[in-house]
Amino acid sequence: MRYRNSIIISITLFFLLCAGGTSFLFHQLITNQKKLTQNYLQAIISKLDSIIGNASIAGHRATDLLNGQCGNKVQTEIRKLVATLPDVTTINLLQGKNLYCSSVFGGVSFTSDAHFFPAKSLFLMSDSSVNPSESLLVYHVSRGENSVMVGVDNYYIQNELKKYHGSYSYIMTVDGISLDATGNIFKNQLSDGQDTYSSTQFKYSVSALPLAPLSLLTFWQSEHDRILLIFIISGGLSILFLKYLIHRQSMFFMLREAIDNNQLEPFIQPIVEARSGNIVAGEILMRWQHPKWGNISPDRFIPLAEKNGLVSRITELGIQSVIRSFELLDLKSLPLTTLFFNVSAADFGDNSLLNACQSFRDKTANTALHIGLEITERVAVEDSAFVREVCQQLDMLGVTLSADDFGTGHCNYKLLMQLRPRYIKIDKHFTQEIETDEGKEAIVRNIIAIAKDRGCLTIAEGVESASQREKLVAMGVSFLQGYFFSRPIEAAVFFERLQRSTAFVE
Ligand code: C2E
Ligand code: CA
Ligand code: CA
Repeated sequence: MRYRNSIIISITLFFLLCAGGTSFLFHQLITNQKKLTQNYLQAIISKLDSIIGNASIAGHRATDLLNGQCGNKVQTEIRKLVATLPDVTTINLLQGKNLYCSSVFGGVSFTSDAHFFPAKSLFLMSDSSVNPSESLLVYHVSRGENSVMVGVDNYYIQNELKKYHGSYSYIMTVDGISLDATGNIFKNQLSDGQDTYSSTQFKYSVSALPLAPLSLLTFWQSEHDRILLIFIISGGLSILFLKYLIHRQSMFFMLREAIDNNQLEPFIQPIVEARSGNIVAGEILMRWQHPKWGNISPDRFIPLAEKNGLVSRITELGIQSVIRSFELLDLKSLPLTTLFFNVSAADFGDNSLLNACQSFRDKTANTALHIGLEITERVAVEDSAFVREVCQQLDMLGVTLSADDFGTGHCNYKLLMQLRPRYIKIDKHFTQEIETDEGKEAIVRNIIAIAKDRGCLTIAEGVESASQREKLVAMGVSFLQGYFFSRPIEAAVFFERLQRSTAFVE
């Protein structure tokens, strides 16, 4: 299939765009989650800093009460601190390891849990002899042998950890012991996979633990709108790209490239004098050898060029290429020859045809080479002042005009009156089978009569056999062209044959 490669490229592009788009989305989702988690960690730290800050204030104030006594005044003072400072649950006064005064129990005597001594200022307890049912965060301030233990109910801390529970769960870690949002206390070695922030004020950290790794399903669930959008945009872009590739391969695009890259080559078909068979002229017929598609017929690309405004570039290219092909030749050695270029109505739209003819004349001045133009009657040449001016200039340059495809269109007489050509070219449609088809013979006879009447010479094209040739000679046609004499040949070969200038029968 002609567009197979383009379709494969476009489908590949579609998948690449989808893969690129969704990976970008996935990456963005992870980055956003990370940023959000970092914000949450900072928010938790600042809240916990303020809770522990209150405990620290309570602890430092209570150190003034450390005198081994637990009288009413001391008890009232520590209860007042518990009541006035937010988040503080208990205050206990200790002498060595002996807890002698508590905001909950008043004057007591406990031997306190020893594992945190001597110097830890902050620790997590799953239970304590003071308050066995609750886990506690304890803030510990020492003053010599004595110390104050301020308890903060973990309920406050759990609340903070719970607030941001989502795709991550959050834990607080103090000295290798962690507390999670459900109140569990466990030993924790912080691993690399955890996002951890440490407090700058107190010795603890908060970490985020992913609850479940991000799966394709959760990705789809949270981003399906945007994923669908990426698929739609990728599809749209791929279709546009496919259209572009198809356009690139279209005849028009290829033709423009061929003109730009000089891929069109002029071939020349000899025109011979009817009786002698001597070459007296040649018709330039462009050949397009496409590197991939091979030989493309002018019947395909000329109408396309006419429709798309490219034909005058082809005419110019043809004339310039022919000039290049005889540049190295000794033109003085050539016999009298007219080279006919096919032109279209569009060629008369500006001065480029005139300029090309002028440069042909310049290169062939004082030689026997002449330039002629074959104007098809199938497309009418506009009868405007500008066109008349161009024709006048062409005439002054000595450019010979020939009415091409005579009888096949509908403006043959108009063309004769308007351009006053020197030659009338009888189309191959009428010369083929002329020996047997009486209708065609009658038409050719008419054309010859019109030519005589208008003072024109006749060229019959499409002569393929000796019998055709004889018939046309007998009917009084002046010049002949066709496969019987020669197929169109490369310009260099044409000039070589012209130099030998022998009668031309293949
Ligand atoms: P056309 O002007 O009628 O040219 C004659 C066509 O008949 C040429 O076809 C030629 O190769 C072919 N031909 C010559 N002798 C014989 C023969 O004995 N038998 C048969 N069956 N055919 C013969 P080609 O080269 O394919 O060109 C087709 C048409 O394309 C031309 O028809 C002409 O209208 C157009 N064309 C070619 N080159 C140019 C160009 O440079 N500019 C313009 N405007 N038209 C061009
Ligand atoms: Ca022609
Ligand atoms: Ca023709």
